[in-house]
Amino acid sequence: MISDLHTHSTFSDGALRPVDLVAALSRAGIECISLTDHDTVAGLAQTRKACETAGIRFVPGVEISAQINGEEVHLLGYGFNPKSESLLKFLNIQGERRLTRITEFQRRLVEAGVPISAVDFDGESRSTVGRPHLANAIIAAGAARSIREAFDNYLMPGTATFVPRILPSASESIEKIHASAGIVSLAHPGDYISNQTVLGLIGIGLDAIEVKHPAHDQRLSDYYTDLAVRHNLFCTGGSDYHGWRSGEEENIGRFSMDWELPPNILM
Ligand code: AMP
Ligand code: ZN
Ligand code: FE
Ligand code: FE
Repeated sequence: MISDLHTHSTFSDGALRPVDLVAALSRAGIECISLTDHDTVAGLAQTRKACETAGIRFVPGVEISAQINGEEVHLLGYGFNPKSESLLKFLNIQGERRLTRITEFQRRLVEAGVPISAVDFDGESRSTVGRPHLANAIIAAGAARSIREAFDNYLMPGTATFVPRILPSASESIEKIHASAGIVSLAHPGDYISNQTVLGLIGIGLDAIEVKHPAHDQRLSDYYTDLAVRHNLFCTGGSDYHGWRSGEEENIGRFSMDWELPPNILM
């Protein structure tokens, strides 16, 4: 089964609505999809419906930004109950924090002479706001020519306008997913995550490692597969498709895993 277990939609910082995302992945031959929007499960119902229509298997997903020992990690939750009250409450808090942070970013950007308005974030179905939305608003305001330039000049630590994020602990995040009957995979560990942090996460209940991801070359992918096997963890893979990054179309389907996840997370 060709799967893609890491994708984003307009419910966070992806370019495609769930129905269009499912159509695009389906055209590319994907047979099993997980939508893993940042800190929200609001797009899952639409994605599930689109998958049913397209005859594709669907795994509920979410990508939670968390921290452990001051290091930011992205945790992929899979197969949880998307209606879990405690999970929804937890994700709502993260959403509120994102909104507060983006508002402060806006204030500082305006102060720095970049005239962006709150209106820029009223996306059709959007429920998570993040720096990519700010980058687009900065471009629209004429203060940068590319996403990259917007990040480099206004959105990265070290710039005058940067606002840090308040992140939940990794242990609380893992707990919330476990309590709603899901499993947790560490997203793109090759993306600057220290080995000590990976081991720390394994120590607090990590279930899987995302071994296949565009940020990993074959060597890294082999390295994390070996680590997962040694610690008795599942392996996951996904394209991290956002629909607006260059070269992404070629990534669809390239990070599929032979099916090694517990069957109960398949819906
Ligand atoms: P946030 O969650 O609001 O801190 O935004 C993080 C998101 O911004 C990541 O998931 C990436 O999609 C994107 N991002 C981070 N750094 C860059 C960069 N240098 N260029 C483009 N996108 C980036
Ligand atoms: Zn993203
Ligand atoms: Fe991520
Ligand atoms: Fe992602």
